[in-house]
Amino acid sequence: MSFTAAIIGRPNVGKSTFFNRLVGKRLAIVSDTPGVTRDRREGNARVADLEFRIVDTAGFEDARDGELASRIQQQTERAVGAADVALFLIDARAGLTPIDEVLAAVLRRSAVPVILIANKCEGRAGQPGLLEAFRLGLGEPIPFSAAHGEGMGDLYDALREIA
Ligand code: GDP
Ligand code: MG
Repeated sequence: MSFTAAIIGRPNVGKSTFFNRLVGKRLAIVSDTPGVTRDRREGNARVADLEFRIVDTAGFEDARDGELASRIQQQTERAVGAADVALFLIDARAGLTPIDEVLAAVLRRSAVPVILIANKCEGRAGQPGLLEAFRLGLGEPIPFSAAHGEGMGDLYDALREIA
């Protein structure tokens, strides 16, 4: 069965790196500067024998912590509206931020299943952020490293449950 996954997350959590890891091509621009992704990018993702459409969603790349929650909410709703599953990334090294909390609230209300991914979890620096992520009320976070390709097994299992 084919399905579409939307990558959701605040700027700089590693969405484009994650996209590139799953698509296997340098299609999305990875940048140390938050806000570099300007376009929606789509590609064919593969996780072991699962193949699906994946969208690296931009739209609130310039959102700041103080920004109106309604704008973030609207853009996230649009992104997940066309998707069968939301892949929600947080930065385990940075820990949760107010934008993460707003996005989580939108996703909790949405009908789309959510897979919570604690990115940047290689090594030990991500452990506190990983534990913090439980608090979002979106189930067990998957420890992941898009940069190093760690966590694919758990991601596969989570996708198999949904797809
Ligand atoms: P986006 O803004 O969410 O699309 O994030 P990017 O993919 O552009 O990545 C933002 C920064 O985080 C870049 O410096 C990446 O190299 C870095 N990054 C992405 N994934 C990982 C990871 O798994 N571990 C670490 N340590 N850094 C990462
Ligand atoms: Mg990006």
